[in-house]
Amino acid sequence: MDVRRHQAMAPAVKQPRHRIVAGATAVALFATALAVTPFARQTGSAQPPAATAQTAKPGELGYDDTPTIPGQKWKVHDINRPAPPLVTPGATASAPPSDAIVLFDGKDLSKWAQRGPNGENIQPKWPVKDGYFETGAKSGSMFTRDSFGDVQLHVEWATPSVVAGTSQGRGNSGVILMGRYEVQVLDMYNNRTYADGGAGSLYGQWPPLVSAPRPPGEWQAYDIIFEAPRFEGDKLVKPAFVTVLWNGVLAQHRKELVGATAHRTEPKYTPHAAELPLTLQDHSHPVRYRNVWIRRLAGYDQPER
Ligand code: MG
Repeated sequence: MDVRRHQAMAPAVKQPRHRIVAGATAVALFATALAVTPFARQTGSAQPPAATAQTAKPGELGYDDTPTIPGQKWKVHDINRPAPPLVTPGATASAPPSDAIVLFDGKDLSKWAQRGPNGENIQPKWPVKDGYFETGAKSGSMFTRDSFGDVQLHVEWATPSVVAGTSQGRGNSGVILMGRYEVQVLDMYNNRTYADGGAGSLYGQWPPLVSAPRPPGEWQAYDIIFEAPRFEGDKLVKPAFVTVLWNGVLAQHRKELVGATAHRTEPKYTPHAAELPLTLQDHSHPVRYRNVWIRRLAGYDQPER
């Protein structure tokens, strides 16, 4: 499996959470935590405090006599509402959390493919170098072997440090959700182009709220939340929505797409599968990528695992 589970703080046994612990045991665990935690901190240990079961008094974990929250099936502080899944965050904002699928860990392109001469999937030709890979000029775009629908995606990219070209001809690539919906990648540092074609744009539809570029050659980050469109037969029943944080700055705020990315033509939706591969665009410029990870989004109030 691709899913990395709780690697940073992996306990030896399944980590209990939101469980009521019976009286004497709870007191003992609480006392242990009080005794151990300050000592660990005083000695400067890098280890996190030992995980202990949570203690709670009866009634402290919710109620069943409260009103229903408008628009929801749950009561206010509903004792029966499932606890959210536990995720261990990455050590830094760019590191994958425990439930992410790592699409590139700095070593190989095993999660990716390119289209072969007969339409078959082939191993990508894009070069992998010191912890990053680079768009292979004119070898074609690259796409994930897995398919995705609603996702959170983290990707870091850098346009060439040696500046060449103008407008769309400078460090052009793209993060193309479902192989159809492009968040533009472009060197925007002292580079002018049409507003709906710059980095951070939903290409051909929406310029970013602001442009937040770093200089060419420097690593930049996109954190993208993508809601896939929904179709019933040939009918669009829900459009796609895209949120983009560009170098931590909000560039797209749950913006609705009016169709698949198009160049010089009107964007339109064409019905497609619920999940499709993620594509990175080869636009014949050597753009670098690293730290690529993705999380499938399952929505609120999933059953407890
Ligand atoms: Mg592009």
